[in-house]
Amino acid sequence: MSHNPDCLFCKIVEGKIPSKKVYEDEDVFAFHDIRPAAPIHFLMIPKKHIPMLSDMTILDEQLLGKMMLLAPKLALEAGARPGESGGFKVLLNNGADGGQEVYHVHMHVMAGPRPWKYQ
Ligand code: AMP
Ligand code: ZN
Repeated sequence: MSHNPDCLFCKIVEGKIPSKKVYEDEDVFAFHDIRPAAPIHFLMIPKKHIPMLSDMTILDEQLLGKMMLLAPKLALEAGARPGESGGFKVLLNNGADGGQEVYHVHMHVMAGPRPWKYQ
């Protein structure tokens, strides 16, 4: 398991920086975003340090699939409304032009009644 000692999200995984945990297993950690852009807003990250989505390879196929399939489950558990009238948004920023600020891959999961700060 690779960790970057200077990485904010690696420190969150290790518990060196506090977070409001949503979910954890051997591969994945999820926690509430500190500046929520929607009524429900959490981040899902791989435990291993990978800076960007574009750094991931075929070796990460299972990990990415797991994260995608966890998103609806965790969104519902966090209070997202089910069905077509409810739902959630999954967002993954990649690089500066993609709006990425923290260089440890993270999937935003946002939900709850609109309007949101982020559309
Ligand atoms: P991005 O712009 O995709 O890199 O998103 C980074 C996200 O990390 C932003 O939504 C921040 O609000 C969030 N964030 C930064 N620091 C923390 C922290 N200590 N705990 C939880 N979320 C954080
Ligand atoms: Zn990291």
